[in-house]
Amino acid sequence: MSMGKLEQLRGQLDSINIQLLELLSKRAHIVQEIGQEKEKQGVPKFDPVREKNMLEELVSRNNGPFDHETVRHLFKQIFQASLKLQQTENKKQLLVSRKKQKENTVVPLGDITIGGGKPLIIAGPCSVESYEQVRQVAAALKASGITVLRGGSFKPRTSPYDFQGLGIEGLKILKEVASEFGLKTISEIVDPAHIELAGSYIDVIQIGARNMQNFELLKAAGDVRTPILLKRGMAATIDEFLHAAEYIVSRGNTQVMLIERGIRTYEKATRNTLDISAVPILKQESHLPVLVDVTHSTGRKDILAPCAKAALAAGADGVMVEVHPDPATALSDAAQQLNIDEFNRFYAEVKQSGLL
Ligand code: PEP
Ligand code: MN
Repeated sequence: MSMGKLEQLRGQLDSINIQLLELLSKRAHIVQEIGQEKEKQGVPKFDPVREKNMLEELVSRNNGPFDHETVRHLFKQIFQASLKLQQTENKKQLLVSRKKQKENTVVPLGDITIGGGKPLIIAGPCSVESYEQVRQVAAALKASGITVLRGGSFKPRTSPYDFQGLGIEGLKILKEVASEFGLKTISEIVDPAHIELAGSYIDVIQIGARNMQNFELLKAAGDVRTPILLKRGMAATIDEFLHAAEYIVSRGNTQVMLIERGIRTYEKATRNTLDISAVPILKQESHLPVLVDVTHSTGRKDILAPCAKAALAAGADGVMVEVHPDPATALSDAAQQLNIDEFNRFYAEVKQSGLL
């Protein structure tokens, strides 16, 4: 074959490539229109029967030189690329996603903010047990410079025979003590019927790991304007976690904070497995503040400080830790709560890292 002939044939191929590209692009535009129509009609994007019929039609018209299998393979590639186009086109961007909102959501709590670039430590007992117990912790935390006090009053316990919390009475205790010391408060609510009422006692409503996909509770949390601290379910994927937050934000409550609290794995050295990688992933995927609960994730007092430092180094906006005046007598999580001296050592170590 002379060079002139080769050049000429290559020239023909180049122009066919361009024609193919034009045809593929034209096809892709139609695919997009079909995608929009399917979206409107609520029809699934992938239609295996239609795909099979198209392939059969193409194979029946195939006169070579490609064999039928090759024709099938080539067109399947086109179909796959088209399906992907429809799926990304119509993928709803979540309100909680970074794609939807570039700037960080900042949750103001009186004089402080969460998610505003200055991380904080949230501390307090696992359960509100009595006025004296909460007051003792609050006084110590205040003296150390802590501004947000946690304490559970509705306790979702594994056993129905374990302490279930003081209920509304506990919220009243939190309110009284917090106002004495000028602290902000966080407490878990488990019943949609208490969501509205909770706003008059506490500053942040916590939705616990066991309730991350309690959709009626999430909807009720979305209908108030009290900030929400949403805990990651113990077997929830990051995608499920973000969709749970979306339930709240989509109903108008934009003041949502996410908190990683450890997930269940086969590892027994810790109570749960602290998924530290969730922190940068959540920060990338979402504009909501991201915190880490070092107590429930590890269940081990001896590694709280390094885990808190890891969380802050990974970009967390805050760390939550349980503190009790006398952990040995605590009505819940006795093994993992810090006493006041231990908390002060923990706090000093975390501060020394320069990450706070
Ligand atoms: C809590 O923070 O009191 C609690 C019960 O945590 P979790 O929902 O993460 O188990
Ligand atoms: Mn606890």
